[in-house]
Amino acid sequence: MSTPIQYQNLGKSGLRVSNVALGTWITFGSQITEEMAEEILTLAYESGINVFDTAEVYAAGKAEIVLGKILKRKTWRRSSYIITTKIYWGGKAETEKGLNRKHIIEGLRSSLDRLQLDYVDIVFANKSDSLIPTEGKADPFSTTSAASGRIFRVEEIVRAFTYVINQGWAMYWGTSRWSATEIMEAYSVARQFNLIPPIVEQSEYNFFQREKVECQLPELYHKIGLGTMTWSPLACGILTGKYEDGIPVHSRAALKHCSWLKEKILSEDGKRQQQKLRELALIAGRLKCSLAQLAIAWCLKNENVQCVVLGVSNSDQLYQDIQALKVVARISSSITLQIEKILGNAPINGSRIEK
Ligand code: NDP
Repeated sequence: MSTPIQYQNLGKSGLRVSNVALGTWITFGSQITEEMAEEILTLAYESGINVFDTAEVYAAGKAEIVLGKILKRKTWRRSSYIITTKIYWGGKAETEKGLNRKHIIEGLRSSLDRLQLDYVDIVFANKSDSLIPTEGKADPFSTTSAASGRIFRVEEIVRAFTYVINQGWAMYWGTSRWSATEIMEAYSVARQFNLIPPIVEQSEYNFFQREKVECQLPELYHKIGLGTMTWSPLACGILTGKYEDGIPVHSRAALKHCSWLKEKILSEDGKRQQQKLRELALIAGRLKCSLAQLAIAWCLKNENVQCVVLGVSNSDQLYQDIQALKVVARISSSITLQIEKILGNAPINGSRIEK
């Protein structure tokens, strides 16, 4: 199959990742059937996507179970794809969550059981311990810093991830939604005690969420070789334009457990975003692509981003989203300027280097 997928090193590590990955949040083990999950995974793999991203918390472990079952049925060589999972929220018990040594070790072993794998390629710390945990229906992307009592046991965390790697249960480790300062702390501790530093940070990145990826992560790449994987390129589907006239019945925002997304879309800020999306859709039209493809291509155009993690609820969406790779070359500097003018949110002192 001819494919527009490309590969590059994840940061300064030797790991060769496809420039788009397939994620399993909300979809696998929950929103979609196992048959559809298999159809999506098969299309992804056959298109050349080699990174599949999951987490212990996705669908309370069911996403890993479904992914593991499909991988078991397939005859793909284990060495030909990369599995990433994330540890933080395991079970209900006090000892089944967080970034303490016990949960990092037990959590990863449970993930491997669910995935039916001997190892994952990258295990992520799904959030930093120094952030306030989000509860219930709150926006899960909230990163409000704890006002007081910040406890960040970085040495314990680095030692535990080094241990799981040395046991052969993971090849590398990474961070997710950590601040640049926290990542540097982990790196320094690793260097001080001859432990293994993280190789990658997973961050949200899209038209409306730019600061971290454009301002903070490039510096970490230059200082410590940290790679960047980004998620929610479509802002949970908002950037497809599908929410222009309300909430379609078959959409993420209509899901019961995603009421936070619905609220976000219907808020004043959400309405302002819809206006910008209408203007961006005109640019997409001129480039002969969909708004979703323009949004994904715009992420890929940033050369500080090595891997954009896609989410899809059916294989048609995946096929369409992969075609965004062909749009990247059509985003000229003049188009970039037009996009910037509409967005009006270019971070000050950002370093969005374009391919
Ligand atoms: P997106 O922002 O791209 O949203 C994906 C959703 O948008 C799909 O499930 C689908 O929802 C809709 N969609 C996608 N393509 C199309 C299309 N062509 N046309 C119409 N609708 C479309 O990504 P996610 O928010 O899912 O994030 C991607 C992955 O990143 C996750 O699966 C996860 O692996 C990872 N992630 C990591 C996080 C972290 O903290 N490290 C946090 C969040 C995600 P629908 O059809 O249901 O409307």
